[in-house]
Amino acid sequence: MAGKIHDVIVIGAGNAGLSAALAARQAETSVLLLDKCPKSVRGGNTRFSGGGFRFTYSSLDDMRPMLPGLTDEEAAKMEVGTYSTAVFFEDVMQVTEYAADKKLTNILVDQSYATVRWLTDLNVKWILSTSTHAVKMGEKIKFPSGRVISVNDGGLGLVEMLFPTAENKGIEIIYEAKATGLIVDKKGKVAGVRVQTRDGSVDFKSRAVVLAAGGFEANPEMRARYLGTGWDLVKVRGSRYNSGEVLSFALGLGAQPIGHWSGCHAVLVDAKAPDVECAYEHRYSYPYGIMVDINGKRFADEGEDFFSYTYAKCGREVLRLPWRTAYQIFDSKTRPLLRSEYNRGFHVFADTIEALAKKLPGLDWENVVKTVSAFNDAVNDAPFDPSKHDGKCTQGITPMKSHWAQRLDTPPFYAFPVTCGITFTFGGVGITEKAEVLDTSGNVISGLFAAGEITGGSFFHNYPGGSGLMKGAVFGRLAGTSAGGFAKATRA
Ligand SMILES: Cc1cc2nc3c(=O)[nH]c(=O)nc-3n(C[C@H](O)[C@H](O)[C@H](O)COP(=O)(O)OP(=O)(O)OC[C@H]3O[C@@H](n4cnc5c(N)ncnc54)[C@H](O)[C@@H]3O)c2cc1C
Repeated sequence: MAGKIHDVIVIGAGNAGLSAALAARQAETSVLLLDKCPKSVRGGNTRFSGGGFRFTYSSLDDMRPMLPGLTDEEAAKMEVGTYSTAVFFEDVMQVTEYAADKKLTNILVDQSYATVRWLTDLNVKWILSTSTHAVKMGEKIKFPSGRVISVNDGGLGLVEMLFPTAENKGIEIIYEAKATGLIVDKKGKVAGVRVQTRDGSVDFKSRAVVLAAGGFEANPEMRARYLGTGWDLVKVRGSRYNSGEVLSFALGLGAQPIGHWSGCHAVLVDAKAPDVECAYEHRYSYPYGIMVDINGKRFADEGEDFFSYTYAKCGREVLRLPWRTAYQIFDSKTRPLLRSEYNRGFHVFADTIEALAKKLPGLDWENVVKTVSAFNDAVNDAPFDPSKHDGKCTQGITPMKSHWAQRLDTPPFYAFPVTCGITFTFGGVGITEKAEVLDTSGNVISGLFAAGEITGGSFFHNYPGGSGLMKGAVFGRLAGTSAGGFAKATRA
């Protein structure tokens, strides 16, 4: 209702917005949740995500509240290690080249486990990330530390569990309600949101507003403006609705831009994937093969680390190449190790490398043959072990392959053309440790809070997989709690 004053309005109903709305409701405030998308495709980028969460734990026992059906027999096969706050913190810092905001990272890390438990109490159901992250070694199933469970049914499952919970708790949700600006009172306090609805422009008044409208990854003009040349041409993996206007009007109001504005999470996707919402066409198994450009030359260390520490920066690498295209090549030894997404989409196969390369128009097949031959000659004889950094590397070629370097010698051979797919952007508004939005002078903008990908400072250059949803839930919960507290304190 436009006439009434809501305690808290949340703009954007993805993971961060739903978390904020639920936390504000738990703080006993009235909450209005707005999203510009139709109800049938609700959930933002979160809807398209894999649903993987990275969080701290001491042992598999910490996972039991999330996995009530796990039997002792199943548990005995699992190797999950431990994931301490110190290791999670260092993982974020290392992949972001030590640029991540330390205070925000500490909150992310410290609150990660408690927030996963909070989501569980809100009806979120979980499964082990066996098919996407684990490696089977005999009877044992080994998980990389920190990335052990995902939401059942991925991001779609997450939003379709949180929306009914939000509705049942009395949160009002309006779809096809596009926020176009903030209402500010005479004292400079944010007092509501201007919204474009099917019935025209409506002003919704509130005591506090939470911005949770995601990044600008679906806006080619903003991508070119902030990320640089060529980014207007990339494929968009997630929601078509994250077009950055909320970020723009927050900056227009004086919110502080912070973080890596020319940086983003971008991965490798099937070169023939749809241009938008191609969430399920990713190609993450490159550590098991080699990648060449259109000239038939390798251009990256495919085995630098486990994919979850390198995949988010690969898209940028390939965007730099001619035709914005690379070719992932595997043989029949490694084909069974490839993730299930490789079973769909475009690829070619052949009994020789030459025949394989000739099936891909434009690819310099003579160079591909030379590259594979030089690669095979450079591989050492260390045993291959996909569950750890195995040191099975190349020697004497550039770039080297640091781990999991098996010779491409067993036909048939397979090639998967890939290109850059953007996932989300890194730049956003600055927030305090209470998720209050800062202005360009470093002061809090009264009544304004933010969470999720619309905030900056958390990720630079790269990111450890599973941290985006964790960030959205941790800071969404924080923003909702803070906004709820603020609204209650300012009630007449
Ligand atoms: C294919 C894919 C896979 C991913 N997999 C993972 C994973 O497994 N683990 C992980 O941690 N992260 C993953 N991510 C990243 C993760 O999805 C994001 O970090 C997270 O969903 C961001 O949540 P958010 O709430 O900030 O934004 P979103 O979920 O994008 O929500 C933003 C919402 O704001 C709405 N909105 C935008 N503008 C307006 C406006 N003007 N008015 C009203 N509403 C507006 C949008 O419609 C949208 O619903 C993945 C992302 C993609 C695309």
